[in-house]
Amino acid sequence: LFVTFEGGEGAGKSTQIRRLAEALKGEGHDVLVTREPGGSPGAEAVRHVLLSGAAEAFGTRMEAILFAAARNDHVEEVIRPALTSGKIVLCDRFMDSSRVYQGITGNLEPDFIEMLQRVAINGVMPDCTLILDIPAKVGLERAQKRSASDGPDRFEKERLETHEKRREAFLDIAVREPERCHVVDAMQTEEAIAAEILAIVKRLMSP
Ligand code: C5P
Repeated sequence: LFVTFEGGEGAGKSTQIRRLAEALKGEGHDVLVTREPGGSPGAEAVRHVLLSGAAEAFGTRMEAILFAAARNDHVEEVIRPALTSGKIVLCDRFMDSSRVYQGITGNLEPDFIEMLQRVAINGVMPDCTLILDIPAKVGLERAQKRSASDGPDRFEKERLETHEKRREAFLDIAVREPERCHVVDAMQTEEAIAAEILAIVKRLMSP
């Protein structure tokens, strides 16, 4: 079972992934937690470049190709082997982040983004995508608190408007792919969100 977590900054993805992983492990499942950009040694090296100031010299097209290159490495080196060996894979961000960040707010043609995703995922589609939905302003305030020590990464510095546009774009994906995508209200308490997510995933696992 391949589950991806999506949403804007500060939506609580990493907290919820951790909680879901603990709950599933507690029930005896073999769980792999991973993240993007990154997740494999090659992709982590690309992450480092993409989140640094160096990437400000890249055009959005080059950036999209690099995200896709990293994703393909992550899929082939980590995700596919884990799924083949029967693990539940929980991934923090995946192809929908590229549709939203590089496609919608990066102003790249949808066809170009979709082509890159086909190459990147090479048939490894998420069974379930949890979209953690939060007003951009609230998410950003949370993200800023989190990165108070190391400073915001270059994406977190963008305008509120851009973040709000991304939120809408994630919700649009959920409308277009209701079978795969589940929108979770991330303004609920941490416990309530965790319970909702666990219920969704268990429904998927029951025969
Ligand atoms: O998930 P996390 O917030 O740690 O992601 C790291 C950064 O990479 C974020 O600021 C996110 O906006 C950015 N990102 C992106 N395009 C992607 C995936 C992540 O711009 N496809």
